[in-house]
Amino acid sequence: MNHGFETLAIHAGQEPDPYTGAVVPPIYAVSTYKQDGVGGLRAGYEYSRSANPTRTALEEALAAVEGGVRGLAFASGLAAEDTLLRAVCKPGDHVVIPNDAYGGTYRLFARVLEEWGVTFDPVPLGDVDAVRAAMRPQTRAIWVETPTNPLLNVADVAALADVAHDAGALLVVDNTFASPYLQQPLGLGADVVVHSTTKYVGGHSDVVGGALVTRSADLGERLAYHQNAMGAVAGPFDAWLTLRGLKTLGIRMDRHCDNAERVADLLLSHPKVVQVLYPGLPEHPGHEVAAKQMRRFGGMVSFRVEGGEEAAVAVCDRARLFTLGESLGGVESLIEHPGRMTHASAAGSPLEVPADLVRLSVGIESIDDLLADLSQALG
Ligand SMILES: *Cc1c(COP(=O)(O)O)cnc(C)c1O
Repeated sequence: MNHGFETLAIHAGQEPDPYTGAVVPPIYAVSTYKQDGVGGLRAGYEYSRSANPTRTALEEALAAVEGGVRGLAFASGLAAEDTLLRAVCKPGDHVVIPNDAYGGTYRLFARVLEEWGVTFDPVPLGDVDAVRAAMRPQTRAIWVETPTNPLLNVADVAALADVAHDAGALLVVDNTFASPYLQQPLGLGADVVVHSTTKYVGGHSDVVGGALVTRSADLGERLAYHQNAMGAVAGPFDAWLTLRGLKTLGIRMDRHCDNAERVADLLLSHPKVVQVLYPGLPEHPGHEVAAKQMRRFGGMVSFRVEGGEEAAVAVCDRARLFTLGESLGGVESLIEHPGRMTHASAAGSPLEVPADLVRLSVGIESIDDLLADLSQALG
C-alpha cells in the first residue's frame, strides 16, 4: 500500500474480516486450526505459536508503518531482542552497543549473552569514528538507540549503517523512543528495527510487547523461523491491544511532541534546573542529526536538578499529575529518577547515569496542567 502513515496505521494488515465483515480484526483466541484433509491449511494457519490471525494483522501493520517487508510480534521488547541476537550471533561474535543503552538491553548482553560467548563493547554512538574503531572481524551488529534512554543522545543512523555495512555487519535500530511516526530507520539504511511496543506503539500503558521489522525478506524469514523455534510470541489479546494503540500513534505523537516542547521551554527557564536534555533544543549536541532523521523530537525530556540526588528525588516525590513510575510512551505523563529506578542496575557500570537526573515521559494531558505540576514539583 502506497499510503500515508496514518492510513497505513489504521488499515495495513487490517482488512475487514472476510467471514463477518468485522471492521476491526477479531481477537482469535485459538491455539489450533481445523485442517481440510491432512496438511490442508486454511490461509496457512496451523498452530498459534507459528501464526495467529490477530498477530498477523499486527505484524503486517508494523511492517507497513516502518517501511519494512516483514514484521514479527513478540511477548516483550526484550523477547524480540533476544530472538534477534540469538538468530544472528553465535559464540565468538561481537556486538557494538550504545554506552547508554537501555538498561534491559545492557543486562541481556552483560548477564545473558556473555555467558554464551557473545561479547560486546559499549561505545558513544554519537562519535562515528569511535564506532568504526570498535569494529572487529567478529562484529556481527551495531546496536543503535536514538534518541537514547535516559540521556537522549542522538546517533546518525545513515552514517552508522555505512560503518556496519563496510564491516559486513548488521545495523540494528531500537526505534522505541522515536516510534515509526517520527523516525524510519530502515529507510536510512538499517537492516532491522526493534521495538518495545509497550511504549509509544501501544501507547496506553496497558500491554507489554515487542517487535522486529526487517528490510529484507531473507532476514525476515530467518527471524520468523527463530520466532517460532524460540516461541516468545505475542498472544492474540496483546496483539489486538497493540494494534488498537497503533491506529492513533500519529496523532498521539504530535501531541506528545507539542507538550514536550513546552515542558522543555519551562525547564530551560527554571532556576533550579541545571541542564535540559531534549533533542529539539538547538543547543543539544545531536540536534542537527535529529532534525535530519526525525520528523519531530519526541515526548521524552530529561533534566538535571540543582542540589544533586536528594533534590532530584524530591522533585519526583512532589509531582502529582506526573505519575511516579517506570516505563514511558503512554498517554499519561510519568516522572522517574533513572539512577534509583530504571537504571539502578547500571550503577557502577559504564552505563551509570547522573544522580541528579530526572526523566519525564510527557503525556498528552492539557499542557497547562502539566506545566503547573512541574512548577510546583520544582518548588
Ligand atoms: C522498554 C524498552 C525496551 C524493552 O522492552 P520491554 O517491552 O520492556 O521488554 C527496549 N528498549 C527500549 C528503548 C525500551 O525503552
